[in-house]
Amino acid sequence: MKTYDIVIVGGGPAGLAAAVAAKEAGNDSILILERDHELGGILNQCIHNGFGLHTFKEELTGPEYAYRFIKQVLDLGIEYKLNTMVMDISAEKIVTAMNREDGMFQIPAKAVILAMGCRERSRGALNIPGYRPAGIFSAGTAQRLVNIEGYMPGREVVILGSGDIGLIMARRMTLEGAKVKVVAELMPYSGGLKRNIVQCLDDYGIPLKLSHTVVDIEGKEHVKAVTIAEVGPDRKPIPGTEERYTCDTLLLSCGLIPENELSRAAGVKMSTVTSGPIVNESLETNIPGVFACGNVLHVHDLVDYVSEEAKRAGQNAVKYINDGCKLPAAEDKVIEVTATEGARYTVPSTINVDRMDDLLTVRFRVGDVYKNSFVSVYFDDERIMHNQKRILAPGEMEQIVLRKSQLQEHEGLKKITVKIEKE
Ligand SMILES: Cc1cc2nc3c(=O)[nH]c(=O)nc-3n(C[C@H](O)[C@H](O)[C@H](O)COP(=O)(O)OP(=O)(O)OC[C@H]3O[C@@H](n4cnc5c(N)ncnc54)[C@H](O)[C@@H]3O)c2cc1C
Repeated sequence: MKTYDIVIVGGGPAGLAAAVAAKEAGNDSILILERDHELGGILNQCIHNGFGLHTFKEELTGPEYAYRFIKQVLDLGIEYKLNTMVMDISAEKIVTAMNREDGMFQIPAKAVILAMGCRERSRGALNIPGYRPAGIFSAGTAQRLVNIEGYMPGREVVILGSGDIGLIMARRMTLEGAKVKVVAELMPYSGGLKRNIVQCLDDYGIPLKLSHTVVDIEGKEHVKAVTIAEVGPDRKPIPGTEERYTCDTLLLSCGLIPENELSRAAGVKMSTVTSGPIVNESLETNIPGVFACGNVLHVHDLVDYVSEEAKRAGQNAVKYINDGCKLPAAEDKVIEVTATEGARYTVPSTINVDRMDDLLTVRFRVGDVYKNSFVSVYFDDERIMHNQKRILAPGEMEQIVLRKSQLQEHEGLKKITVKIEKE
């Protein structure tokens, strides 16, 4: 089997953008490995519009957005293998994969880009009481059934969880003639984008019940009814608040989990908050030459940010190879980036000023809804940024931009802290 400079695991929007950027940065030895029968990742089943407003300044559907990048991959002659499952990545960057034509094969690479995306949290992980009849689907599975396979999962629907996929499926099922009776959300706020609540629920008169959860599922062969109840601040159901909805379908949209089994097995250090790799300013993990981007790194709200981030991973992989695959610079040059007081995590977690670009975007999410608050950034104990925000919500990704010159001016800087302040 041929060797490659850069092996990219996953041919979704992250893998595609990383490949294009690496090629444009001058590397001709790139291979994308994708387990599915086509490139494009999960966007192939997202046939609604709203993609690409930032990247292309127009509203595209998921497949249209993906195709913009697939076309670049084809035009640039970047190699890819479909129906190819990556089964292992070693710390020495030997990628083991398998497909029908080649059987099991190994590719030694100088750099590996992790772009495996995420999967939905399963019902098992959610511990819903009641029977386990047919008619319970994750929202993503229902999306695939309706948009790709051409099947309707049911006609009367209850949705648990208000993540973006659940909101989008509430509208999709309605447009296909189903009655979506309610969306129940355990938290006191939605996990999805505000624009999706307006466009997918409010516009169709679908009620969203915050601080509610499913307490019973009825039906032995098939779902017959679902009971939801209000939860208190301890997230436990409040007796007497139960409401029963007859339905034949329960869709679950209760969060996404980055697909990091391969990363973990390779020895990549993971964040307990994002369940994605801990990365530095170059989006490089603790294994030199192994980079991560897209939903495998942290779950994004907009694919535009995935593409932007992946572009940096591709460029940095080329930089790493062109620099002779050196180990990262000494620890004493590393500035720690931490999130506290309302901010849950940051990507990246460390910055080496010598290696950072002139501008560096630091992305994070908040853990609650904050109104009329400030995103503050501290360089050690000195507050250097204090940006007022009308609203901050867990469903929306936030970002700050750091200037290299700003960090260089603060000699001896050890720690950058992002926090949410009331004033
Ligand atoms: C069900 C679902 C629906 C979504 N709907 C929307 C939406 O409507 N709007 C929106 O903005 N965002 C949506 N998202 C978020 C969306 O995933 C991201 O915006 C974007 O697709 C992330 O790109 P990615 O390349 O990181 O991941 P993905 O698009 O998930 O691509 C990852 C790719 O890696 C491949 N892969 C994984 N493991 C391996 C392996 N071991 N070997 C080989 N290949 C592998 C997968 O097959 C996949 O093609 C959805 C996510 C999910 C899970």
